[in-house]
Amino acid sequence: MQIPRLHPDTIEAAQQRADIVDVISEHVVLRKRGKDFVGLCPFHDEKTPSFSVSPSKQMYYCFGCSAGGNAIKFLMEVGKRPFSEVVLDLCERYQVPVQTLEPEQRQQLQSQLSLREQLYETLAIAAQFYQHALRQSQGQLARSYLQSSRQLSEETIQQFGLGYAPVGWETLYRYLVEDKRQPVQLVEQAGLILPRKTGDGYYDRFRDRLMIPIHDIQGRVIGFGGRTLGDEQHASLREESISPQLAPKYLNSPETELFSKGKTLFALDKARVAISREDKAVVVEGYFDAIALHATGITNAVASLGTALSLDQVRQLLRYTESKQLLLNFDADAAGTQASVRAIGEIANLAYRGEIQLRILNLPEGKDADEYLKDKGDGGEQYRELLATAPLWLDWQIQQIVANQDLKQANQFQQVSQQLVKLLKLIDNPDTRNYYVRHCAELLSRGEDRLVSQYVENLLAQITPGKGWGSSGQGSRGAGEQRSRGEKRRGAISFSPRQSPQRGGIGAPSGDGGRPPHGAGSSPHPPLSPSSSPSRSLLEKAEASLLRIYLHCPEHRQAIVDILEEQDLQFSFSHHRFLWRQILEVSSTDSTQKAIDSVSTTQTQLDLISHLQVQCLEFESEIAQVSYLFHPDEKSQQEQMQRIPQVIQAATARMEQVLCEKRYRHFLELWQKTDGSTDPETSEYYYQEYNQAKLRSMKLQQQCQFSVCDLL
Ligand SMILES: [Zn+2]
Repeated sequence: MQIPRLHPDTIEAAQQRADIVDVISEHVVLRKRGKDFVGLCPFHDEKTPSFSVSPSKQMYYCFGCSAGGNAIKFLMEVGKRPFSEVVLDLCERYQVPVQTLEPEQRQQLQSQLSLREQLYETLAIAAQFYQHALRQSQGQLARSYLQSSRQLSEETIQQFGLGYAPVGWETLYRYLVEDKRQPVQLVEQAGLILPRKTGDGYYDRFRDRLMIPIHDIQGRVIGFGGRTLGDEQHASLREESISPQLAPKYLNSPETELFSKGKTLFALDKARVAISREDKAVVVEGYFDAIALHATGITNAVASLGTALSLDQVRQLLRYTESKQLLLNFDADAAGTQASVRAIGEIANLAYRGEIQLRILNLPEGKDADEYLKDKGDGGEQYRELLATAPLWLDWQIQQIVANQDLKQANQFQQVSQQLVKLLKLIDNPDTRNYYVRHCAELLSRGEDRLVSQYVENLLAQITPGKGWGSSGQGSRGAGEQRSRGEKRRGAISFSPRQSPQRGGIGAPSGDGGRPPHGAGSSPHPPLSPSSSPSRSLLEKAEASLLRIYLHCPEHRQAIVDILEEQDLQFSFSHHRFLWRQILEVSSTDSTQKAIDSVSTTQTQLDLISHLQVQCLEFESEIAQVSYLFHPDEKSQQEQMQRIPQVIQAATARMEQVLCEKRYRHFLELWQKTDGSTDPETSEYYYQEYNQAKLRSMKLQQQCQFSVCDLL
C-alpha cells in the first residue's frame, strides 16, 4: 500500500513501544545468556550463535556478519521492507496512534489499517453464528457426526470452536448484513459470501457444512475450513441439486487480506506452548488429525492446510522449537513415498543442509492420525511410541530405497546403489554426509564387514567431485567448495554386488580409481581466522589478553564481565567466542561460582581451567586453538599483570572500535543503496546510524593509538 509520510512523533513512539526481544523472537529462536539473548543469525548461514540481542539497549548485533540495529532496522532487513511500512506495522501491533505529515492522507491510512480490524470482527461474528447453528435442531446431523464418527467430546468441540453452516443460500448473509449491519463488501472480503453471477445479490460460500475456524497465532479467526457431512455419497446427493461441482469434501476460505493458505498452520495457536515445551512439532495433514491429536493430549500438533509445507509455515514452527525438530505425519497410501516427498516440498533443502531435524512418521496400513488413534483407542500410547521412534528423513528415504530389494541380484544392487548415490549427493553438511556414506556402505555390504571400507571408498568416489570433505575439517564450507559441488562428478565407478576387493575391478582401497589427487593446489587447513592484517591481529591480541586475564586473575573477572556487558561487546574471533561461552557456562554452575567468587588463589585458577578442560573434552579442535591461554605466558605476564586495569581498558577499546567500524561501514553501504528521493526516512535513518558509529569509531581510534599498541 502507498504510505503517506509519517510524523516523527509516530516513528519515535513506535520505536519506543516496540520491544526488540519480542520482535526478533518471531524470527529467531533466542536463548538467554547473561542479560542478553543470543541466537542463530537470520542474515547469514551459521551453526553456532553469533547473533546477540540486548534488551537494555534495544539493539541487536551479529558478530559473524556485523548486521546490527534496532527493532525497526531488524524488520526492514529481515522482511526486505521499507521503513514506513515497518513503522506502521509496529504502530498497529503496539497500538501507537498514527500521525502523518499530510493530514488529508490520515483518514485514508486509518481506513487501510482498520480494514483488517473489521475483517477480524466480521469473521468472529460468523464463527459465533456457526457455533450457535451447531447447537440448533438444524445442526443435529453435524453434531452427531462430530460425536459418533469423530468421537469428539463437547469440550474438544468447544475448544476448537467447531460449528455448522446451515443449508440455504443466504442464512449467513442475512445474519451478518441485515441483523448485524456488517457492510456487504466487508463480508465479501472476508471470503464468506460470493456475488451471484446474475449480478443481483450474494450467496453464502459455506452451506450445509461442518465449520472449522482457522485462527492466527493470536487466536483470532482468519478463515474457515468447511467439511461436507458424512460420506461423499451423502454430500454429493445433498448438493447435487444445487451444483455438483461445488461439493468438494473440504472447502477452505479463499485467500483474503487475513488468510493465506500457504502461510497458515491450523491449530498453531493452540500448539505453540506445547511445541516449545517439548521442543518439537508434529505436522499432520488434516484438520481432524490435528484435533484428534489434541484431544488425545498430544498438543504439539498442527495441520498444514492440504498443501506442501512451505518455508513460511516451517519458519513459524521453528520459532518455537530450539532444536528445530519437525515430525511429519502425512498419509502414506500406496503412493505414500511420493506423497511424503511432495509434502516436504521446499523444506527438503533445509534438511539436507542440517538446518532442521526432519522426521517422518508413516502409520501402519496407510492410516491417518485420526483413524489410527480411534482404532487403537489406547489414549495415544502407541502413537506416542511411533513418534518417539520415527526415523530421520534421510534414514527414511534410505529405508524406502532399500525396501523390498534383493541386494544379491546384480540389477537390484545396481539400482539401489545408484539411488543411494543420488541421495548422498544432496546432503550438504559434510559431517552428516560422512555419516550416511558409512551407513549406506554398511547396508550394501550386508553384514560383510570386510566390504564396508571398500564401499565407503566407492561411494565417496561417486559423490565427491573434489577433495577434502571427508577429512575432519571444521565443517565450514568455503565458497570454493560450494561451487565445486555443482561440477560434474568424475568418471563414476559402478558397483557390482559383493565383488571382493582382491579381484580388482572396482577401486580397491589403495587404488586411485576415480579419486582425484588429494589437496592439489590449496592448503588442506586454511587458517580459521583471517589474521593477516595488522589491525586484525591487534584485535586478536586484545581479545586474547582479556581472556588470559580472566583465566588467571580472578580479582579482575568481575571488571571484565562488567565492561563487556556495559559496552555490549562480544569476541569477534570464533575460537575466542567459543572459549568465552564455555567460561560463562562453567561460571554459571553453582559450585564453581563459589570458587570463582572467592579470593584469588592458585587453587581457584586451576579450578576454572580444569573445569574448562573437562567441559571441552568433546570440542578437541576448538579448544586446541585457545588452550595456550590456559598457561600463563611467563615473560609477558610479569609486565602485563601490573597494568591490568589499563590492559582491560585498552583491549575493550580496541574491541569496541572494530565493532564501530563494522557498524559504520554496514550503514554506509545501506545508505548508499537507498534512494533518498523515494524513501527519505530510510535514507535519513541509515545516515544517522552511520554518522554516530563513525564518530564513535574515530574517538576510539585516537584512544587506541595511545594505549593499545603500547600495552597489548
Ligand atoms: Zn550474521
